[in-house]
Amino acid sequence: MSENIKKLILGIETSCDETAASIVAHYGLGRGKILSNIVRTQLKEHENFGGVVPELAARSHIIHLENIVQKALEEANIELDEIDAIAATAGPGLIGGVLVGLTFAKGLSAATNKPLIAVNHLEAHALSARLSDEVSFPYLMLLVSGGHSQFLLVNNIGDYQLWGTTIDDALGECFDKVAKMLSLGMPGGPKVEEMALKGDNKRFKFPRPLLHEERLDFSFSGLKTAVRLQAEKIAPLNEQDICDICASFQQAVIDIISARSKDAIIKFKQEFPSIKCQLIVAGGVAANKGISKALKEVTLQQDAILIVPPISLCTDNGAMVAFAGAERFALGASDGLDFIAKPRWSLDSEDMRVNQNEL
Ligand code: AMP
Ligand code: MG
Repeated sequence: MSENIKKLILGIETSCDETAASIVAHYGLGRGKILSNIVRTQLKEHENFGGVVPELAARSHIIHLENIVQKALEEANIELDEIDAIAATAGPGLIGGVLVGLTFAKGLSAATNKPLIAVNHLEAHALSARLSDEVSFPYLMLLVSGGHSQFLLVNNIGDYQLWGTTIDDALGECFDKVAKMLSLGMPGGPKVEEMALKGDNKRFKFPRPLLHEERLDFSFSGLKTAVRLQAEKIAPLNEQDICDICASFQQAVIDIISARSKDAIIKFKQEFPSIKCQLIVAGGVAANKGISKALKEVTLQQDAILIVPPISLCTDNGAMVAFAGAERFALGASDGLDFIAKPRWSLDSEDMRVNQNEL
């Protein structure tokens, strides 16, 4: 497949609480341009429940997706006819939402005769840095979002190794739950970060689970419980107590992420002694300035490179789905209309592989 032919790809994302669509122009592997990137967040719809309600999320995607796709086409100034392929998140995620986006994409594909590309949401995150930055394979990826916390070795398109993951809560989920127990509202992450800026990060000594172990996994559930027990112990909380809890909690998170990232970089350097380690961070938690500052320090100390793509690409969006679809399409991949949506879909599974010989 020639590298120079421009392909226009529509990307659809509905795996959690963002209804998103985007048009990406793809000029060959690693070279994409975002022509539109429309995201409608459902934050307000789930606010009163203190978390995403899967059934409500799916219904909301049904109501809004068509309009969001229309907007993505309009903003890119592209007619549906001009699209070369339709990419949609096919998992992992909240299955009701995934089904809405994938079924919509299948319908479009059947009606227009354009190929369908079923995209793994995690692959879309993993490749998104190639859309915004000069990144070469292999690289290390830290994905910290509302649904995932993991280290991935990104060897190539379709070729990933999971180096570590959370054994319980995702980090973003942990931020959200801490915010909820302190009645800070949603989205929790930014609220906790804001309060932490005014607090004493040494007042409470919260646990740093799994840090004594060699594996690169995370565990945040014990930390969350420790925060709850501490808050109950000193209740009723005044404003300064809340700020101190947030600061001490965030410091525990920073220590965990820093130590784990250092270990992951050391492992990368052992496996690839002649390649400079690039650490890519994605997911909504990447917006946390305390965490990104700590990661900057770790990468500096380890002579590695830190890349944090723009936050609009770090959180859930359609451009990363379009781009991942485009990269797979350029390698000759496409999927049948019988592709089954997957609530769980590990990136290191065999069905992620694409034929690199198509190059
Ligand atoms: P995502 O799942 O990638 O869409 O990201 C959403 C998650 O990121 C939510 O759990 C947010 O609470 C979390 N988040 C967003 N901003 C921040 C922040 N500044 N600090 C910590 N977590 C954050
Ligand atoms: Mg995500």
